[in-house]
Amino acid sequence: MLVQIETTSAEPTQRLPEWLCKPVRNTDADHSLKKMLRTRGLHTVCEEARCPNRNDCFSRGAATFMILGDVCSRSCGFCSIKTGRGLPLDSMRDEPEQVAEAAAQLKLNYVVITSVNRDELPDGGAGHFARTIHAVRQRLPRAKIEVLTPDFKGNREALHAVLDAEPDTFNHNVETVPRLYLRVRPQADYQQSLDVLREAHRYSPKTLTKSGFMVGLGERRDEVKTLLEDLRTHDVDVVTIGQYLQPTRAHLPVAEYVHPDVFDEYKAYGERLGFRAVFSGPLVRSSFMAETVREIADRG
Ligand code: SF4
Repeated sequence: MLVQIETTSAEPTQRLPEWLCKPVRNTDADHSLKKMLRTRGLHTVCEEARCPNRNDCFSRGAATFMILGDVCSRSCGFCSIKTGRGLPLDSMRDEPEQVAEAAAQLKLNYVVITSVNRDELPDGGAGHFARTIHAVRQRLPRAKIEVLTPDFKGNREALHAVLDAEPDTFNHNVETVPRLYLRVRPQADYQQSLDVLREAHRYSPKTLTKSGFMVGLGERRDEVKTLLEDLRTHDVDVVTIGQYLQPTRAHLPVAEYVHPDVFDEYKAYGERLGFRAVFSGPLVRSSFMAETVREIADRG
């Protein structure tokens, strides 16, 4: 039943184009999922980052678990996740098992695990990622596991620790074009992120590599094509491209609502470059329909 069109951004400063509006749905299913997650002391990036697709995913029983707490050591201009000093690891000792039990309760075949940045930890939280992968693998031996990780400040040992736990898909987002890094991702480095992706492929060739970025932050079309070329030359198999939406007025303004035709243009260009899958659209997010994207890549 369509009652009214729901905007997909918390506090939009501009009227949203029709391709970003979604019909309002019955959210009852979400409540039980959220209740289960809270009971287990778990966070999702879906809620923390105010993802526009969270109701859809929750109603399908899909969610992206966010480990290592809900406080990030960085402050990206587009992200609504809290910034500050995260809780000590001791306080989340049973988080890997709780993620595994939650995934089992949701009967997930494809489990996506991400985290905030914990730059203050010696390994950036890589060990906790590995423990969570092991716990899910033990509880759901047939499920596929995708990790969406930080850059671990380029620490290869930390990266290897995650890959030694054998995730099926290794995802690390570059988020935007290099010219905009200072405004969008001030604590990150474009080349460092590309090197993390290439090293993941070199160190674990059987693991699918994936990256994602947003558009609508002021990038030019040619810069996006160069970014896609850079990802391919750094052995990335899958790419996701979505529209940036301003979470609150305290975050970066939207420079442009990119038309769906342009997303199609980027998809076609990416496919010509040889990506195994290009998932490009206004409401696409890095782990949205991750299972389907993986299937497309496996068929690719
Ligand atoms: S590093 Fe990730 S979680 Fe932290 S502010 Fe940036 S986007 Fe948000």
